[in-house]
Amino acid sequence: MTPTLVVHSAAQLVSIASPGGPRRGNAMGELGLVSDGAVAIKGDRILLVGDTSEVLAQADKDTKLLDASGKVVMPGFVDPHTHVVFAGDRAAEFEMRLQGTSYMEIMAAGGGIMNTVRATRQASLEELVSQSRGRLDRMLTHGTTTAEAKTGYGLDTKSELKVLDAIRLLGGSHPLDLVPTFLGAHAVPVEYSGRTDDYVDLVVDEMLPALQVEGYLSDQAPIFCDVFCEEGAFSVRQSRRILERAKAFGMGLKIHADEFSSLGGTALAVELGATSADHLACTTDEEIGLLADSDTVGVLLPGTPFGLAEDHYAPARKMIDAGVAVALATDLNPGTCYCESMPFVIALACRQMGMTPAEAIVAATINAAHAIGLGQEVGSLEPGKKADLLVLDAPDYRHLAYRFGTNLVQVAIKAGQILAGESEV
Ligand SMILES: [Zn+2]
Repeated sequence: MTPTLVVHSAAQLVSIASPGGPRRGNAMGELGLVSDGAVAIKGDRILLVGDTSEVLAQADKDTKLLDASGKVVMPGFVDPHTHVVFAGDRAAEFEMRLQGTSYMEIMAAGGGIMNTVRATRQASLEELVSQSRGRLDRMLTHGTTTAEAKTGYGLDTKSELKVLDAIRLLGGSHPLDLVPTFLGAHAVPVEYSGRTDDYVDLVVDEMLPALQVEGYLSDQAPIFCDVFCEEGAFSVRQSRRILERAKAFGMGLKIHADEFSSLGGTALAVELGATSADHLACTTDEEIGLLADSDTVGVLLPGTPFGLAEDHYAPARKMIDAGVAVALATDLNPGTCYCESMPFVIALACRQMGMTPAEAIVAATINAAHAIGLGQEVGSLEPGKKADLLVLDAPDYRHLAYRFGTNLVQVAIKAGQILAGESEV
């Protein structure tokens, strides 16, 4: 087979070739580096990865060539935890917080998450899609080629379905691939204030069945169900009700656990076979042990404490040493973390959570792919996988963590198509 595109002569080719599941322990630091490396692509798939001389030998006069001399070539980032679809913003609240107003005071004045819920409920499907599209563009510019996208700013059946429709429309029309997650249990809406169990009834008895009726559960593509298990949101008992019902519908499971307090959400995730447990800033040693012995990926979100100017970062070093499969994500959302950049998350992970640059890259690629059920499809450069790769304007992968605040992604290739910056290479 003759390749359609060959990216060649990379100073470092980061392959992260990973047979089987997500990487753990020492394997999290192994990038499968090839010096003077190349990738051959046919259509939307990777054909061959190896030395430039070996790979270029497959090319003919019709093969497009991209010279990556002096640069790093690596898999596109997978961002496995985002709330990218929302309307409006909360810049004014950010300034109020900086000036000393607490998050709870802002909530009491009708702000916080309900601010975004109001704007999202009011927005038309078209407005929601157009406001979110710009964020996807910037994510792609910073190297994200696949992302998860949650609902959770609708909080009534009609609005939750509207957000899912927006995710489906964006995923179908934007080069970045989106994996949908239903997060109807993101917060208790004001109209259910003090009646959390009644809202859980709505999620279990009306929203989840509506997903099936609307055809969201019959697709071949994965769809997840997530719950915010936290004091002031949903208890372990309520989270279990929702996740068990979702599992019965055949959905993959996720949970927001241990962000501010440890309730037992991580143990619940392991017990139910969740694909991921996310946040994990206050996870106990016992639950870290449970996670390490399970197939559940721990998704860490260091942008969130940074965004809140707080210091409760997840104990990533302890988790990796214990054998947890750790992934990284942005948590992109309008309240606590309006961040579209996986490289910035990598830079934070190395400084605030004790990860090495290699571990952070594995966490942002192959392990992140496993955290959304796509570990066999994306997240590494291997024959047969989707041709999602980046050319970095840097001679060494460590620059991704070492430098921050500028964008080193010079070219993003999505499904074999060059999407940005070709003329610069
Ligand atoms: Zn979240």
